[in-house]
Amino acid sequence: MRVLSVLGSTGSIGTQTLEVCRKDPDNFKVASLTCGSSVDKIYEQILEFKPLLAACADEKAAAILREGLKLEHPEITTRVEGGEQGVIEAATMAESDTVLGAIVGVAGLKPTYEAIKLGKDIALANKETLVAGGDIIMPLAHDLAAAKGREVLLPVDSEHCAIWQCLWGEKRQNLDRILITASGGPFRGWSRDQLGDVTAEKALNHPTWKMGGKITIDSSTMMNKGLEVIEAGHLFGVGVDKVDVVVHPQSVIHSMIRTKDGSVLAQMGKPSMILPIMVALYYPERGDRLLTEFDPFDPQCSNLTFEKCDTEVFRLLALAYDAGRKGGLLPAIMNAANEVAVNSFLMGEIGFLDIEKTVFEVYKSFDNGITSKVTSIDDVLEADKEARIKAMEYLK
Ligand code: NAD
Ligand code: MG
Repeated sequence: MRVLSVLGSTGSIGTQTLEVCRKDPDNFKVASLTCGSSVDKIYEQILEFKPLLAACADEKAAAILREGLKLEHPEITTRVEGGEQGVIEAATMAESDTVLGAIVGVAGLKPTYEAIKLGKDIALANKETLVAGGDIIMPLAHDLAAAKGREVLLPVDSEHCAIWQCLWGEKRQNLDRILITASGGPFRGWSRDQLGDVTAEKALNHPTWKMGGKITIDSSTMMNKGLEVIEAGHLFGVGVDKVDVVVHPQSVIHSMIRTKDGSVLAQMGKPSMILPIMVALYYPERGDRLLTEFDPFDPQCSNLTFEKCDTEVFRLLALAYDAGRKGGLLPAIMNAANEVAVNSFLMGEIGFLDIEKTVFEVYKSFDNGITSKVTSIDDVLEADKEARIKAMEYLK
Protein backbone atom coordinates (compact mmCIF):
# COMPACT_ATOMS: atom_id res chain seq x y z
CA MET A 1 0.00 0.00 0.00
CA ARG A 2 1.23 3.49 -0.87
CA VAL A 3 -0.12 6.50 0.96
CA LEU A 4 0.08 9.41 -1.43
CA SER A 5 0.45 13.15 -1.40
CA VAL A 6 -0.72 14.19 -4.85
CA LEU A 7 0.81 17.55 -5.79
CA GLY A 8 -1.00 19.18 -8.70
CA SER A 9 -3.98 16.85 -8.28
CA THR A 10 -6.29 18.91 -10.49
CA GLY A 11 -4.05 18.84 -13.57
CA SER A 12 -3.70 16.37 -16.38
CA ILE A 13 -1.27 14.07 -14.54
CA GLY A 14 -2.92 14.65 -11.17
CA THR A 15 -6.38 13.57 -12.35
CA GLN A 16 -4.96 10.51 -14.12
CA THR A 17 -3.11 9.60 -10.93
CA LEU A 18 -6.38 9.75 -9.02
CA GLU A 19 -7.92 7.53 -11.70
CA VAL A 20 -5.30 4.89 -10.89
CA CYS A 21 -5.95 5.32 -7.15
CA ARG A 22 -9.72 5.11 -7.64
CA LYS A 23 -9.39 1.75 -9.40
CA ASP A 24 -7.24 0.21 -6.68
CA PRO A 25 -8.15 1.46 -3.20
CA ASP A 26 -6.44 -1.58 -1.67
CA ASN A 27 -3.07 -0.37 -2.90
CA PHE A 28 -3.45 3.42 -2.81
CA LYS A 29 -4.68 5.82 -0.21
CA VAL A 30 -4.69 9.59 -0.72
CA ALA A 31 -3.46 11.57 2.29
CA SER A 32 -3.24 14.99 0.69
CA LEU A 33 -4.21 16.85 -2.45
CA THR A 34 -2.84 20.15 -3.71
CA CYS A 35 -3.48 22.53 -6.56
CA GLY A 36 -2.74 26.06 -7.66
CA SER A 37 -6.19 27.63 -7.69
CA SER A 38 -8.65 25.11 -9.21
CA VAL A 39 -11.14 25.22 -6.34
CA ASP A 40 -14.01 23.42 -8.09
CA LYS A 41 -11.90 20.46 -9.13
CA ILE A 42 -10.13 19.97 -5.83
CA TYR A 43 -13.47 20.34 -4.03
CA GLU A 44 -14.86 17.32 -5.88
CA GLN A 45 -11.63 15.39 -5.27
CA ILE A 46 -11.84 16.10 -1.55
CA LEU A 47 -15.41 14.80 -1.40
CA GLU A 48 -14.32 11.62 -3.15
CA PHE A 49 -10.95 10.87 -1.54
CA LYS A 50 -11.44 12.55 1.86
CA PRO A 51 -7.74 13.37 2.35
CA LEU A 52 -6.43 14.58 5.70
CA LEU A 53 -5.10 17.75 4.10
CA ALA A 54 -5.74 19.81 0.98
CA ALA A 55 -3.72 22.84 -0.06
CA CYS A 56 -4.10 25.52 -2.70
CA ALA A 57 -1.00 27.54 -3.55
CA ASP A 58 -3.33 30.48 -4.03
CA GLU A 59 -4.39 31.73 -0.57
CA LYS A 60 -7.67 33.16 -1.83
CA ALA A 61 -8.57 29.85 -3.45
CA ALA A 62 -7.80 28.10 -0.17
CA ALA A 63 -10.13 30.45 1.71
CA ILE A 64 -12.97 29.86 -0.77
CA LEU A 65 -12.42 26.11 -0.56
CA ARG A 66 -12.39 26.12 3.25
CA GLU A 67 -15.58 28.14 3.45
CA GLY A 68 -17.35 26.06 0.80
CA LEU A 69 -16.57 22.80 2.55
CA LYS A 70 -17.58 24.15 5.94
CA LEU A 71 -20.93 25.32 4.65
CA GLU A 72 -21.91 22.49 2.37
CA HIS A 73 -20.05 19.51 3.80
CA PRO A 74 -19.49 19.96 7.52
CA GLU A 75 -18.97 16.19 7.77
CA ILE A 76 -15.69 16.48 5.80
CA THR A 77 -12.75 16.75 8.17
CA THR A 78 -10.09 17.61 5.56
CA ARG A 79 -7.90 20.46 6.77
CA VAL A 80 -7.40 23.16 4.12
CA GLU A 81 -4.18 25.15 3.91
CA GLY A 82 -3.08 27.90 1.55
CA GLY A 83 0.11 29.26 0.04
CA GLU A 84 3.41 27.62 -0.80
CA GLN A 85 3.77 26.60 2.83
CA GLY A 86 0.49 24.73 2.65
CA VAL A 87 1.69 22.82 -0.43
CA ILE A 88 4.94 21.98 1.35
CA GLU A 89 2.99 20.77 4.35
CA ALA A 90 0.98 18.48 2.09
CA ALA A 91 4.21 17.13 0.56
CA THR A 92 5.87 16.50 3.91
CA MET A 93 3.06 15.24 6.13
CA ALA A 94 4.01 12.27 8.26
CA GLU A 95 1.04 10.19 7.10
CA SER A 96 2.15 9.90 3.46
CA ASP A 97 5.04 7.80 2.18
CA THR A 98 4.99 8.78 -1.49
CA VAL A 99 4.73 12.14 -3.22
CA LEU A 100 3.33 12.26 -6.74
CA GLY A 101 4.88 15.41 -8.17
CA ALA A 102 2.60 16.82 -10.87
CA ILE A 103 2.81 20.54 -10.22
CA VAL A 104 3.68 22.41 -13.38
CA GLY A 105 6.93 24.36 -13.45
CA VAL A 106 9.63 25.09 -10.94
CA ALA A 107 6.93 25.64 -8.30
CA GLY A 108 7.28 21.89 -7.77
CA LEU A 109 10.93 22.04 -6.74
CA LYS A 110 10.71 23.11 -3.09
CA PRO A 111 7.93 20.68 -2.08
CA THR A 112 9.77 17.82 -3.83
CA TYR A 113 13.03 18.76 -2.14
CA GLU A 114 11.45 18.92 1.32
CA ALA A 115 9.70 15.58 0.77
CA ILE A 116 12.76 13.68 -0.40
CA LYS A 117 14.78 15.06 2.52
CA LEU A 118 12.22 13.41 4.79
CA GLY A 119 12.75 10.07 3.06
CA LYS A 120 9.63 9.90 0.92
CA ASP A 121 9.45 8.16 -2.44
CA ILE A 122 8.91 10.62 -5.26
CA ALA A 123 6.94 9.67 -8.36
CA LEU A 124 7.98 12.57 -10.52
CA ALA A 125 6.18 13.99 -13.54
CA ASN A 126 7.30 17.55 -12.82
CA LYS A 127 10.42 17.62 -15.03
CA GLU A 128 11.19 21.28 -14.28
CA THR A 129 12.16 20.17 -10.76
CA LEU A 130 15.03 18.08 -12.11
CA VAL A 131 15.99 20.53 -14.85
CA ALA A 132 16.42 23.33 -12.34
CA GLY A 133 17.34 21.41 -9.20
CA GLY A 134 18.72 18.06 -10.38
CA ASP A 135 22.15 18.76 -8.87
CA ILE A 136 20.53 19.01 -5.45
CA ILE A 137 17.77 16.41 -5.78
CA MET A 138 19.80 13.57 -7.33
CA PRO A 139 22.38 13.16 -4.54
CA LEU A 140 19.52 13.06 -2.01
CA ALA A 141 17.77 10.44 -4.14
CA HIS A 142 20.92 8.32 -4.41
CA ASP A 143 21.53 8.40 -0.65
CA LEU A 144 17.93 7.55 0.10
CA ALA A 145 17.90 4.75 -2.47
CA ALA A 146 21.05 3.26 -0.92
CA ALA A 147 19.41 3.37 2.50
CA LYS A 148 16.16 1.80 1.28
CA GLY A 149 17.83 -0.70 -1.05
CA ARG A 150 15.59 0.27 -3.99
CA GLU A 151 14.93 3.29 -6.15
CA VAL A 152 13.04 6.19 -4.64
CA LEU A 153 12.87 8.65 -7.51
CA LEU A 154 10.33 7.05 -9.80
CA PRO A 155 10.05 8.68 -13.23
CA VAL A 156 6.54 9.37 -14.48
CA ASP A 157 7.47 11.32 -17.61
CA SER A 158 6.67 8.68 -20.25
CA GLU A 159 10.06 8.71 -21.99
CA HIS A 160 11.93 8.41 -18.70
CA CYS A 161 9.59 5.72 -17.49
CA ALA A 162 10.36 3.85 -20.73
CA ILE A 163 14.13 4.27 -20.33
CA TRP A 164 13.89 3.26 -16.69
CA GLN A 165 12.02 0.06 -17.56
CA CYS A 166 14.55 -0.76 -20.30
CA LEU A 167 17.25 -0.45 -17.64
CA TRP A 168 15.60 -2.77 -15.12
CA GLY A 169 18.04 -5.61 -14.50
CA GLU A 170 20.68 -3.98 -16.68
CA LYS A 171 24.07 -2.98 -15.28
CA ARG A 172 24.43 0.78 -15.59
CA GLN A 173 27.93 0.47 -17.06
CA ASN A 174 26.38 -1.38 -20.00
CA LEU A 175 24.31 1.64 -21.00
CA ASP A 176 25.84 3.18 -24.08
CA ARG A 177 23.21 5.67 -25.30
CA ILE A 178 19.71 6.84 -24.57
CA LEU A 179 17.42 7.35 -27.56
CA ILE A 180 14.64 9.57 -26.35
CA THR A 181 11.65 9.73 -28.66
CA ALA A 182 9.64 12.83 -29.50
CA SER A 183 6.41 13.14 -31.42
CA GLY A 184 7.75 16.28 -33.06
CA GLY A 185 4.68 18.22 -31.96
CA PRO A 186 2.10 19.90 -34.18
CA PHE A 187 4.68 21.80 -36.27
CA ARG A 188 6.98 18.98 -37.27
CA GLY A 189 8.44 19.70 -40.69
CA TRP A 190 7.46 23.38 -40.61
CA SER A 191 9.76 26.23 -41.61
CA ARG A 192 10.72 29.27 -39.53
CA ASP A 193 8.44 31.43 -41.69
CA GLN A 194 5.47 29.21 -41.02
CA LEU A 195 6.16 29.27 -37.27
CA GLY A 196 5.93 33.07 -37.24
CA ASP A 197 2.13 32.96 -37.52
CA VAL A 198 1.41 30.27 -34.97
CA THR A 199 -1.35 31.06 -32.48
CA ALA A 200 -1.83 29.55 -29.01
CA GLU A 201 -4.89 27.70 -30.30
CA LYS A 202 -2.82 25.97 -33.01
CA ALA A 203 0.05 25.21 -30.64
CA LEU A 204 -2.34 23.69 -28.10
CA ASN A 205 -3.49 21.14 -30.65
CA HIS A 206 -1.01 18.32 -30.03
CA PRO A 207 -1.22 15.42 -32.50
CA THR A 208 -0.80 12.49 -30.08
CA TRP A 209 -0.85 13.58 -26.42
CA LYS A 210 -3.50 15.37 -24.34
CA MET A 211 -1.72 17.36 -21.62
CA GLY A 212 -1.70 20.60 -19.62
CA GLY A 213 -1.20 23.91 -21.45
CA LYS A 214 2.40 24.62 -20.54
CA ILE A 215 3.81 21.24 -21.57
CA THR A 216 1.74 21.30 -24.76
CA ILE A 217 3.33 24.59 -25.78
CA ASP A 218 6.74 23.22 -24.78
CA SER A 219 6.08 20.26 -27.08
CA SER A 220 5.31 22.58 -29.96
CA THR A 221 8.60 24.50 -29.51
CA MET A 222 10.55 21.27 -28.74
CA MET A 223 11.58 22.85 -25.43
CA ASN A 224 9.82 19.93 -23.79
CA LYS A 225 12.30 17.54 -25.39
CA GLY A 226 15.16 19.79 -24.36
CA LEU A 227 13.94 19.72 -20.76
CA GLU A 228 13.59 15.95 -21.02
CA VAL A 229 17.15 15.52 -22.29
CA ILE A 230 18.41 17.32 -19.18
CA GLU A 231 15.98 15.35 -17.02
CA ALA A 232 17.32 12.08 -18.49
CA GLY A 233 20.89 13.21 -17.85
CA HIS A 234 20.10 13.60 -14.16
CA LEU A 235 17.93 10.52 -13.72
CA PHE A 236 20.25 8.11 -15.48
CA GLY A 237 23.58 9.72 -14.58
CA VAL A 238 24.77 10.41 -18.13
CA GLY A 239 25.89 13.58 -19.85
CA VAL A 240 23.35 15.10 -22.21
CA ASP A 241 25.58 14.18 -25.15
CA LYS A 242 24.75 10.54 -24.46
CA VAL A 243 21.09 11.32 -25.11
CA ASP A 244 19.86 11.44 -28.72
CA VAL A 245 16.49 12.83 -29.69
CA VAL A 246 14.63 10.64 -32.17
CA VAL A 247 11.50 12.14 -33.70
CA HIS A 248 8.91 9.38 -33.89
CA PRO A 249 5.53 10.91 -34.82
CA GLN A 250 3.42 7.85 -34.00
CA SER A 251 4.35 8.02 -30.26
CA VAL A 252 4.25 4.23 -30.01
CA ILE A 253 7.84 3.74 -28.88
CA HIS A 254 8.21 5.79 -25.72
CA SER A 255 12.03 5.69 -25.77
CA MET A 256 14.94 3.32 -26.25
CA ILE A 257 18.32 2.52 -24.79
CA ARG A 258 21.36 1.12 -26.57
CA THR A 259 23.68 -1.13 -24.60
CA LYS A 260 27.41 -1.35 -25.20
CA ASP A 261 27.08 -4.50 -27.35
CA GLY A 262 24.75 -2.61 -29.71
CA SER A 263 21.42 -4.01 -28.52
CA VAL A 264 18.58 -1.52 -28.66
CA LEU A 265 15.74 -1.98 -26.18
CA ALA A 266 12.48 -0.10 -26.53
CA GLN A 267 9.32 0.26 -24.48
CA MET A 268 6.10 0.53 -26.46
CA GLY A 269 2.50 1.31 -25.75
CA LYS A 270 -0.38 3.66 -26.34
CA PRO A 271 0.25 7.35 -25.88
CA SER A 272 -1.39 7.47 -22.44
CA MET A 273 0.08 8.61 -19.13
CA ILE A 274 -1.91 6.02 -17.18
CA LEU A 275 0.77 3.40 -17.77
CA PRO A 276 3.81 5.44 -16.67
CA ILE A 277 1.85 6.57 -13.60
CA MET A 278 1.08 2.92 -12.82
CA VAL A 279 4.68 1.81 -13.39
CA ALA A 280 5.91 4.41 -10.92
CA LEU A 281 3.23 3.85 -8.28
CA TYR A 282 3.33 0.05 -8.32
CA TYR A 283 7.13 -0.12 -8.44
CA PRO A 284 8.77 -2.51 -7.64
CA GLU A 285 5.67 -4.57 -8.45
CA ARG A 286 3.36 -4.24 -11.45
CA GLY A 287 -0.36 -3.48 -11.31
CA ASP A 288 -3.14 -5.00 -13.40
CA ARG A 289 -3.68 -3.43 -16.82
CA LEU A 290 -6.12 -0.51 -16.91
CA LEU A 291 -5.83 0.46 -20.58
CA THR A 292 -7.10 -1.59 -23.51
CA GLU A 293 -4.45 -3.98 -24.74
CA PHE A 294 -1.64 -2.75 -26.97
CA ASP A 295 -2.37 -3.96 -30.50
CA PRO A 296 0.61 -4.21 -32.87
CA PHE A 297 -1.86 -4.51 -35.78
CA ASP A 298 -3.41 -1.13 -35.00
CA PRO A 299 -2.95 1.14 -38.05
CA GLN A 300 -0.98 3.53 -35.81
CA CYS A 301 1.66 0.80 -35.47
CA SER A 302 1.82 -0.26 -39.10
CA ASN A 303 4.37 2.34 -40.07
CA LEU A 304 6.73 3.36 -37.30
CA THR A 305 9.04 6.09 -38.54
CA PHE A 306 12.08 7.89 -37.15
CA GLU A 307 13.65 11.17 -38.13
CA LYS A 308 16.02 13.82 -36.81
CA CYS A 309 14.78 17.03 -35.23
CA ASP A 310 15.68 20.12 -37.23
CA THR A 311 17.38 22.23 -34.57
CA GLU A 312 17.77 25.10 -37.04
CA VAL A 313 14.00 25.44 -36.86
CA PHE A 314 13.49 24.31 -33.27
CA ARG A 315 16.40 26.14 -31.72
CA LEU A 316 15.35 25.67 -28.11
CA LEU A 317 16.33 22.01 -28.33
CA ALA A 318 19.90 22.98 -29.23
CA LEU A 319 19.90 25.53 -26.42
CA ALA A 320 18.83 22.90 -23.91
CA TYR A 321 21.80 20.72 -24.91
CA ASP A 322 24.06 23.72 -24.34
CA ALA A 323 22.51 24.36 -20.92
CA GLY A 324 22.73 20.67 -20.00
CA ARG A 325 26.38 20.52 -21.06
CA LYS A 326 27.43 23.66 -19.18
CA GLY A 327 25.23 22.87 -16.20
CA GLY A 328 25.34 24.98 -13.07
CA LEU A 329 22.45 27.38 -12.88
CA LEU A 330 22.00 27.70 -16.64
CA PRO A 331 19.30 25.02 -16.94
CA ALA A 332 17.32 26.74 -14.17
CA ILE A 333 17.72 30.09 -15.92
CA MET A 334 16.67 28.70 -19.28
CA ASN A 335 13.69 27.02 -17.67
CA ALA A 336 12.57 30.15 -15.82
CA ALA A 337 12.73 32.30 -18.96
CA ASN A 338 10.75 29.66 -20.80
CA GLU A 339 8.06 29.51 -18.10
CA VAL A 340 7.58 33.27 -18.28
CA ALA A 341 7.54 33.35 -22.08
CA VAL A 342 5.15 30.41 -22.44
CA ASN A 343 2.79 31.98 -19.96
CA SER A 344 2.88 35.22 -21.89
CA PHE A 345 2.27 33.38 -25.18
CA LEU A 346 -0.71 31.54 -23.67
CA MET A 347 -2.15 34.91 -22.58
CA GLY A 348 -1.90 36.08 -26.18
CA GLU A 349 0.66 38.75 -25.33
CA ILE A 350 3.51 37.58 -27.56
CA GLY A 351 4.05 35.64 -30.78
CA PHE A 352 5.21 32.02 -31.01
CA LEU A 353 8.80 32.80 -31.97
CA ASP A 354 9.01 35.37 -29.15
CA ILE A 355 9.12 32.43 -26.75
CA GLU A 356 12.41 31.33 -28.23
CA LYS A 357 13.70 34.90 -28.50
CA THR A 358 13.00 35.58 -24.84
CA VAL A 359 14.68 32.40 -23.68
CA PHE A 360 17.78 33.03 -25.81
CA GLU A 361 17.98 36.64 -24.68
CA VAL A 362 17.77 35.83 -20.96
CA TYR A 363 20.11 32.86 -21.33
CA LYS A 364 22.71 34.99 -23.11
CA SER A 365 22.61 37.61 -20.40
CA PHE A 366 23.60 34.99 -17.81
CA ASP A 367 25.87 32.83 -19.99
CA ASN A 368 28.67 35.34 -19.65
CA GLY A 369 31.49 33.59 -17.97
CA ILE A 370 29.72 33.22 -14.63
CA THR A 371 30.50 29.72 -13.48
CA SER A 372 27.43 29.31 -11.43
CA LYS A 373 27.83 26.22 -9.33
CA VAL A 374 24.72 24.90 -7.70
CA THR A 375 25.28 24.44 -4.00
CA SER A 376 21.83 24.86 -2.53
CA ILE A 377 18.20 24.97 -3.39
CA ASP A 378 18.22 28.68 -2.54
CA ASP A 379 20.82 29.28 -5.30
CA VAL A 380 18.46 27.66 -7.76
CA LEU A 381 15.41 29.59 -6.60
CA GLU A 382 17.38 32.86 -6.62
CA ALA A 383 18.59 32.25 -10.20
CA ASP A 384 15.04 31.31 -11.17
CA LYS A 385 13.77 34.60 -9.73
CA GLU A 386 16.42 36.71 -11.44
CA ALA A 387 15.81 35.04 -14.79
CA ARG A 388 12.06 35.63 -14.45
CA ILE A 389 12.65 39.33 -13.80
CA LYS A 390 14.94 39.55 -16.84
CA ALA A 391 12.40 37.74 -19.01
CA MET A 392 9.60 40.03 -17.91
CA GLU A 393 11.74 43.11 -18.51
CA TYR A 394 12.58 41.83 -21.98
CA LEU A 395 8.95 41.16 -22.76
CA LYS A 396 7.97 44.70 -21.75
P1 NAD B 1 -1.50 20.86 -15.68
O1 NAD B 1 -1.37 22.30 -16.02
O2 NAD B 1 -2.59 20.08 -16.28
O3 NAD B 1 -1.61 20.72 -14.08
C1 NAD B 1 -0.76 21.40 -13.22
C2 NAD B 1 -1.17 21.20 -11.77
O4 NAD B 1 -0.31 22.01 -10.94
C3 NAD B 1 -2.59 21.68 -11.47
O5 NAD B 1 -3.15 20.87 -10.47
C4 NAD B 1 -2.38 23.08 -10.91
O6 NAD B 1 -3.45 23.52 -10.10
C5 NAD B 1 -1.11 22.88 -10.12
N1 NAD B 1 -0.34 24.09 -9.89
C6 NAD B 1 -0.09 25.08 -10.76
N2 NAD B 1 0.68 26.03 -10.20
C7 NAD B 1 0.93 25.62 -8.93
C8 NAD B 1 1.67 26.16 -7.85
N3 NAD B 1 2.31 27.33 -7.94
N4 NAD B 1 1.73 25.45 -6.70
C9 NAD B 1 1.06 24.28 -6.58
N5 NAD B 1 0.36 23.72 -7.57
C10 NAD B 1 0.29 24.39 -8.73
O7 NAD B 1 -0.09 20.21 -15.99
P2 NAD B 1 0.22 18.70 -16.38
O8 NAD B 1 0.13 18.54 -17.85
O9 NAD B 1 -0.50 17.76 -15.51
O10 NAD B 1 1.78 18.64 -16.05
C11 NAD B 1 2.28 18.60 -14.73
C12 NAD B 1 3.76 18.29 -14.76
O11 NAD B 1 3.93 16.99 -15.31
C13 NAD B 1 4.56 19.24 -15.66
O12 NAD B 1 5.82 19.44 -15.10
C14 NAD B 1 4.68 18.48 -16.97
O13 NAD B 1 5.83 18.82 -17.68
C15 NAD B 1 4.77 17.04 -16.45
N6 NAD B 1 4.32 16.04 -17.44
C16 NAD B 1 3.04 16.07 -17.89
C17 NAD B 1 2.61 15.13 -18.83
C18 NAD B 1 1.19 15.10 -19.32
O14 NAD B 1 0.83 14.21 -20.07
N7 NAD B 1 0.34 16.03 -18.94
C19 NAD B 1 3.51 14.17 -19.28
C20 NAD B 1 4.80 14.16 -18.80
C21 NAD B 1 5.20 15.10 -17.86
MG1 MG C 1 7.53 13.26 -21.79
